Amino acid sequence: MKTLKIAIQKSGRLNEKSVEILKNCGLVFDNYKSSLISSVSNFPLEILFLRDDDIPEYVQDGIADLGIVGENVIAETGAKVSYLQKLAFGRCNLKIAVQNNSDLKTVEDLAGKTIATSYPVILGKFLNEKNIKANVRTISGSVEIGPGLGLSDAIFDIVSTGGTLKSNGLKSFLDVMSSEAVLIGSKAIVDNPDVAELLQRIRSVLAAKATKYVVLNIKKANLKQVIDLLPGVKSPTVIPLFEEDWVAVHSVIAEEDFWDKINSLKAAGAEGILVMPIEKIIM
Ligand code: ATP
Ligand code: ZN
Repeated sequence: MKTLKIAIQKSGRLNEKSVEILKNCGLVFDNYKSSLISSVSNFPLEILFLRDDDIPEYVQDGIADLGIVGENVIAETGAKVSYLQKLAFGRCNLKIAVQNNSDLKTVEDLAGKTIATSYPVILGKFLNEKNIKANVRTISGSVEIGPGLGLSDAIFDIVSTGGTLKSNGLKSFLDVMSSEAVLIGSKAIVDNPDVAELLQRIRSVLAAKATKYVVLNIKKANLKQVIDLLPGVKSPTVIPLFEEDWVAVHSVIAEEDFWDKINSLKAAGAEGILVMPIEKIIM
């Protein structure tokens, strides 16, 4: 079977996590900053290192079979690709922002105004849906200085913490799109068995990342209360301790409600709580 190609960002915000997830899938490859292509020694896969903006079209055209890229870039390029898996990193929001002293109040107030952006397609679609006629001014970077220079009344850009907005005298006005990194595939490749294998590995890594392995000791009398808090993969493992009226409980808990769960477990009498990362969960 032919060797698959996956395109990932060469350098920038998505590079490190893209390399990490592939390495966590057990793929062995060199990640030299100077090379544009790297072969995986233990899987029929080549890695292409590209600018993120080029990835959706490369995948659409089948030059790469797979790609890792932000949903925002896919939407902006309009490339026709299959979404295979959200990857839980590179999260950001695309927002319209205005100057702190702006008198714009509702989305309709944007009519006739100038909005600077490097995402004219996503913005244009949004304005269209809302039936608002505004002037979209496309600039390739430093969009946030637009209003201060009198170049635009508003901006449309990626906002993660809001720090850049603040330091440019801007405030968030409207959320338009949220985005994260996704694995995409060309339409021709979805039934390929190597893709299925890779996808299974990626899902195992993601599932493991979202959970922690927990071991704790509990008096038998309080066991039921603790079990109710711990669903486990199937059900928690309970192991007797040398001290007769105590047991050890082994289970997994979701990262997202981790601290709530730990506090409830402590309140239910759990002692000696150990928490460990999980490398993979095979599904
Ligand atoms: P390239 O040189 O590959 O074109 P770039 O400068 O366009 O890189 P980066 O700034 O590295 O891109 O961002 C890549 C992607 O990371 C964005 O398209 C977006 O999906 C995601 N991202 C997550 N958080 C942020 C953020 N705070 N600012 C910008 N992008 C972010
Ligand atoms: Zn880019």
